Amino acid sequence: MKEAQLLSTLKEYFGYDTFRPLQKKIIDAVFAGEDNLVIMPTGGGKSICYQLPAILLPGITLVVSPLIALMKDQVDGLTANGIPAAFLNSSQSSLEHQDIFTRVEAGELKLLYVAPESLQIIDRLLVPENLSLIAIDEAHCISSWGHDFRPAYTQLGYLKNRFPSTPVIALTATADKATRKDIAQQLNIPGANKHIASFDRKNLSLEVRQGIKKFEQILNFVKTRKNESGIIYCLSRKSTEEIAARLKAKGIKAEAYHAGLGHEERIKIQDDFINDRQQVICATIAFGMGIDKSNIRWVIHHNMPKNLEGYYQEIGRAGRDGLPSQTLLFHSYADVVQLQKFAANAKNEQVQLAKLERMKQYSEAVTCRRKILLNYFGELKQEDCGNCDICKNPPQFFDGTLIAQKALSCIYRLKGGEPITIVIDVLRGAKNEGVLEKNYQKVKTYGVGAEISWRDWQQYLIQLINLGFIEIAFHHHNHLRLTTLAKQVLFENQKVKLAKVPEKILSTPAETAE
Ligand code: ADP
Ligand code: ZN
Repeated sequence: MKEAQLLSTLKEYFGYDTFRPLQKKIIDAVFAGEDNLVIMPTGGGKSICYQLPAILLPGITLVVSPLIALMKDQVDGLTANGIPAAFLNSSQSSLEHQDIFTRVEAGELKLLYVAPESLQIIDRLLVPENLSLIAIDEAHCISSWGHDFRPAYTQLGYLKNRFPSTPVIALTATADKATRKDIAQQLNIPGANKHIASFDRKNLSLEVRQGIKKFEQILNFVKTRKNESGIIYCLSRKSTEEIAARLKAKGIKAEAYHAGLGHEERIKIQDDFINDRQQVICATIAFGMGIDKSNIRWVIHHNMPKNLEGYYQEIGRAGRDGLPSQTLLFHSYADVVQLQKFAANAKNEQVQLAKLERMKQYSEAVTCRRKILLNYFGELKQEDCGNCDICKNPPQFFDGTLIAQKALSCIYRLKGGEPITIVIDVLRGAKNEGVLEKNYQKVKTYGVGAEISWRDWQQYLIQLINLGFIEIAFHHHNHLRLTTLAKQVLFENQKVKLAKVPEKILSTPAETAE
């Protein structure tokens, strides 16, 4: 296909003058009849890679997409641009299906979006002669290594067998190396060209804070961003509703969004958000896939995501217009414990747990966060980014040996039988029930850390956990226990370097994370 014709089609149907990096190369490979695996961050411009060829190729392009809720929007968008397109899924009547069959047979359609579960409905109508291209959107759903496994995707491998001469283009925003390989294997396109766009989104600032007094922090954050759209991701439906209600009570235009809401209601909320009638969406991860809103200025994670792929995809919804946008993640052990429980019942438990561990390490990092993220996605970076909280406010280290000795000997004396909250209370000499009813005021380390605030103790203990001196017994009420490394600090006078607690974490009375 001539470059001039590609460019004029781009202009005519999509209104753009130039291709983004990689788009041209991918489209050329599609026209050459090759299979392609496209890995581009959300907002990178994946759709055009199959929509533009679809317009110019002689037959129909089949688009497999897991998102029934979004098919209509995508098809409406294409139709509005003069591209004959339709979608097929289980929410339609047989009459509607019949209408689509007629249009396929008449060769009227350029693109047909199909949910993987509905592929068999259309199967008999697809013949090698009229099927020009097979696009698999959200291709990571095929892999249980990925973060969004859909069983219906696993049967898609048959497509290449049935249509060996039709090129396949698989697209995803999130794939680590293992997932990439798995996608190509399962789709039967082992020789596919791999196009991997840079995942670096420099305009997104990265920040992680301890999940202490979260609502207060969120409120302050939102208040300073009048009229700026943002998303608050939560782990549960209940918390989306709670936070939305509390924000509303403070006069902020916020709405909850989750899969438990009716279809109409969800459409309305999306619509209000996209058109700036709603400022804040408190959502479960059900929200955002495919939402085309370029001026989302911030994303907050009220809870920890279960892995870095999900996290990066979710924050990636901010700042698609390239303007500076903020992201904020609240770290909490309660979330980690919760997610570990989820993972324990999941397929590929060990993988999920390992990914969660990476997520946790990211949250607790004392080095440039973007480097950690990009390294995770296989982009090795040497330089610090300058746009994450660690770069802006690098931790200062000090000799924390004495602090470590106090903490470790306290845990030793509590016989590894108490969670972080009680350990801190004992260190600080608290006189509350939890301490007094067990006579902990008699413990030798009681009150030895009274001069350090509750919040700072929490931070130091987390660091000592990260440094491997303490472990959390997740299956025993999150009791803190000493590891073998702790001995060197307690008995062999090993020095411990700790990072100073940054000022920006809100001070807090003795309490656990929300
Ligand atoms: P993805 O599917 O990778 O998340 P989209 O295909 O939805 O990304 O594209 C993201 C945004 O970028 C859309 O608003 C799209 O219209 C725009 N876009 C895509 N390609 C180009 C281009 N070549 N020039 C300008 N804008 C583009
Ligand atoms: Zn950085």
